[in-house]
Amino acid sequence: MQTDIAKPRPKIDNVSRGFWDHARAERLSVQTCAACGEKHFPGSPVCPKCLSEDQSWVPVSGRGKLLSWVRFHRAYWDSFREDLPYLVCLVGLDEGPMLVSNLVGVEPEAIAIGAEVEVVFEKVDEELTLPKFRLRG
Ligand SMILES: [Zn+2]
Repeated sequence: MQTDIAKPRPKIDNVSRGFWDHARAERLSVQTCAACGEKHFPGSPVCPKCLSEDQSWVPVSGRGKLLSWVRFHRAYWDSFREDLPYLVCLVGLDEGPMLVSNLVGVEPEAIAIGAEVEVVFEKVDEELTLPKFRLRG
């Protein structure tokens, strides 16, 4: 069943724009500091380690480990009702940063904490592509 209610969209601002530009091109990226090399996510106006403003969004492998996950059975937003049940995951990227996303293409019985995961991209429209994760192999 299609719903007329739009899903909430990420806030794309001057800090996060690079992440979403890469995602549209199907690349996962993390903010990287040119001064000290710190890689972090989500983005911030200054490097959380050395406070430099000299940062850019650098593509990463898109691979990581599943640190935690949860299955949503309840629609806290009406537009997600048709997706129920869906999985939300916490991924630790091989490059270090963690991010929250959806885990797709897997039944809960097959999931193990620490499992290897990789990014997949879901195009919402011309402006927005969402990085999601699936089990590797
Ligand atoms: Zn830094």
